[in-house]
Amino acid sequence: MTDDLTRLSIAEALDGLTGKAFTAEDLTQAQLRAMERRRPLNAFITETAEQALLQARASDRRIADGSARRLEGIPVAVKDLFCTQGVQTTAGSGILHGFVPPYESTVTQNLWQAGAVMLGKTNMDEFAMGSSNESSRFGPVINPWSSPDTPLVPGGSSGGSAAAVAAGCALGALGTDTGGSIRQPASLSGIVGLKPTYGRCSRWGIVAFASSLDQAGPLTRTVRDAALMLQVIAGHDPKDSTSVDRPVPDYAAALTGDVRGLKVGIPKEYRVDGMPLEIEMLWQKGVEWLRAAGAEPVDISLPHTPYALPTYYIVAPAEASSNLARYDGVRFGVRASGDTPKEMYANTRGQGFGIEVRRRIMIGTYVLSAGYYDAYYLRAQKVRTKIAGDFTEAFARCDVILTPTTPSAAFPIGAKTNDPVAMYLNDVFTVPVNLAGLPGLSIPAGLSGEGLPLGLQLIGRPFDEETVLRTAAVLETTTDFRARPAEG
Ligand code: GLN
Repeated sequence: MTDDLTRLSIAEALDGLTGKAFTAEDLTQAQLRAMERRRPLNAFITETAEQALLQARASDRRIADGSARRLEGIPVAVKDLFCTQGVQTTAGSGILHGFVPPYESTVTQNLWQAGAVMLGKTNMDEFAMGSSNESSRFGPVINPWSSPDTPLVPGGSSGGSAAAVAAGCALGALGTDTGGSIRQPASLSGIVGLKPTYGRCSRWGIVAFASSLDQAGPLTRTVRDAALMLQVIAGHDPKDSTSVDRPVPDYAAALTGDVRGLKVGIPKEYRVDGMPLEIEMLWQKGVEWLRAAGAEPVDISLPHTPYALPTYYIVAPAEASSNLARYDGVRFGVRASGDTPKEMYANTRGQGFGIEVRRRIMIGTYVLSAGYYDAYYLRAQKVRTKIAGDFTEAFARCDVILTPTTPSAAFPIGAKTNDPVAMYLNDVFTVPVNLAGLPGLSIPAGLSGEGLPLGLQLIGRPFDEETVLRTAAVLETTTDFRARPAEG
């Protein structure tokens, strides 16, 4: 175990707390100091130090009287897309500035009920639309792996959560993933990110982006920590009719270290043009590592993969345009002035939303409009069914699928802001998983030639997070990825 409390895994911290090596208050104080030191990264929109210390002291009392719960005293950060009662929730947008929810999202409520401590709300792409955290109204987040002269993006949209965990500002964090927003920033920041099966966790109280794709999940330093957080946040919620009523397995118990006989699918369509050789090689190494551990790689085909990005960039904006219709200046956040109600709506939305969000609303409104609905939206829904069908067929031949997480390592801030399509290409390996509603996990597996982290992705059958976690833990042991960003 390391002496630096900010570098512990959640599992190590739980041991230290139980063994009285330190208190929950010590642990939280150490995180609050790290957050202060790392403020230049801009990982947090709101810090909740006072609340964190109150929660930590309550945890210490429960640890002392033997009533500690699963995540007792563990300090975590929360993406600013989760409504937190009494704490400003902005979704990274100007339009929600000053919005203080009168209720708590189910997933965050589950964390606090398990004894976790909230450190603050993390920065993110506006309404979770982005892959670099640059669309945030609160400014970009800097990847802790950046060199002093070239600030890099941490990935997005959960960029603040990823940077916070990678920089030692939180032991774990909550993110959301609509097309890759947990896995892609995890990959670019050298940590583990898990998107559960659609319906595994409640979406209640999460600011909606694309309701048929959104899912909450953990960003952590280890696979075991992802299992520990998932354990607490997963489960049926009567308040979300898309959350599924099935038992939550013991995820930590799934980490047996044994993948002998497991069939690992390698999809040929993921060898995309222009993918750097080092990523192709890392993927190959991943295959060999799993083979050496006794798993059996099998070649599979996911033939509709080339249509996943265009499908996603129709379905997601369509749902977003409808979800974001509620921000009209009347009920939430900011209101601009206007001589007529119509003018007030237009001014509020024009000033409140940033450029990427306005682009998505326009695309979404267009593809849903009479005359274009059949040609775009309906067609995209049909292709989506085909993409899901590809996975069903593939999983008849394999138990888990291995791919790269992203087609590149972290890129410099500003490198792709003028080319939305180049930005969207970041999601090429992650969006099919959301379209099919499957669980997916990114694990740090190596470093690029420039010394930046690269991730591998594991994709599982619906509700089979256990196999994904089990396989990831074996890769984690094999890669023994210990590289860390320099202290800032
Ligand atoms: N980068 C993707 C987008 O911009 C995915 C975002 C997400 O998963 N929230 O839509």
